[in-house]
Amino acid sequence: MCEYALDHGWKSYRGHQIFQWLYRNRVFDIDEMTNVSKETREILKKDFIVNPLELIKKQVSHDGTTKFLFKTSDGALLESVMMVFDYGRSVCVSSQVGCNMGCAFCASGLTKKKRDLTSGEMVAQVMYVQKELDKDNLRLSHIVVMGTGEPFDNYDNVMNFLATVNHDRGLGIGSRHITISTCGIVPRIYDFANEHTQYNLAISLHAPNDELRDQLMPVNHAYPLKELMEAIQYYGKENNRRLTFEYILLKGVNDHPEHAKQLSKLLHGMNAYVNLIPYNAVDEKGFKSVTHDEAMVFYDLLMKNYVRCTIRKEHGNDIDAACGQLRIKEIKKEGI
Ligand code: SAH
Repeated sequence: MCEYALDHGWKSYRGHQIFQWLYRNRVFDIDEMTNVSKETREILKKDFIVNPLELIKKQVSHDGTTKFLFKTSDGALLESVMMVFDYGRSVCVSSQVGCNMGCAFCASGLTKKKRDLTSGEMVAQVMYVQKELDKDNLRLSHIVVMGTGEPFDNYDNVMNFLATVNHDRGLGIGSRHITISTCGIVPRIYDFANEHTQYNLAISLHAPNDELRDQLMPVNHAYPLKELMEAIQYYGKENNRRLTFEYILLKGVNDHPEHAKQLSKLLHGMNAYVNLIPYNAVDEKGFKSVTHDEAMVFYDLLMKNYVRCTIRKEHGNDIDAACGQLRIKEIKKEGI
């Protein structure tokens, strides 16, 4: 959670003590670190900020999904979402303020990227949510880097953040309980593959051919499907992992039976798994979601063609659930 890493030449036990206060006792105030001398605390206070985020708004859905809108110390707004599943509680973390990827359907890209989030600001999102859960003796079990921003456009900070929350002395959230989602920045997929972490990787595919993907996701101009598929297959082989693809079903756009056929062809022979995502309508974008029955038709077609898939359950559809929607609303209101 610290904003700067400064070398004070202290003994390593001091670091362990501070980690304990931050991640086990979860203090936000350095003065609460009572077994750390006053002098040391003063130095820490001068050099570090424990929690750089201020909570601006919190929305709770009937299904327990909770949205947090935070403000950074330089006045930027960002969102995190906590979701409740049968298997535990997951937090969806933002990796940037705004996003430059410009996906046609996404609320995040309505404002261009203002800046990358620091790893401290990403850790702080998780710690804030965990601190809220502490009130009910509950624990976060999963992290998904699927909030606003493109994690592979802020690679080093994201990897640093995950190393902290994954660390035994950090929150200790298991690698297999951590998922990074990317729109397909090919060089970073190779970097990630070569790191051999056990984090899960999900690829936002959303279209089974270049023509349509070019229209929906401008990143496809830079890294078309052939290159993307080669990179993801390299990752799969190198890490012996199943390949996960996300596919938002957009009514009349990418949900035609022909698209299901093309998709199964594209994934043929791969150890792939497709997560079909109901679209959270974004007012400014004009795309519509399919009905559950329509999603089932697409699902059946994929299954018939030997592509394993699931339909993602919707969460928090009574609050501003789509990525970045709460943030956009606030920006419009405040004119930030
Ligand atoms: N930039 C990364 C991570 C952030 S978006 C990526 O593209 O993967 C996380 C996922 O949510 C992506 O699959 C994205 O395409 C999807 N998404 C964006 N807007 C959405 C919306 N309105 N409804 C449903 N899913 C959406």
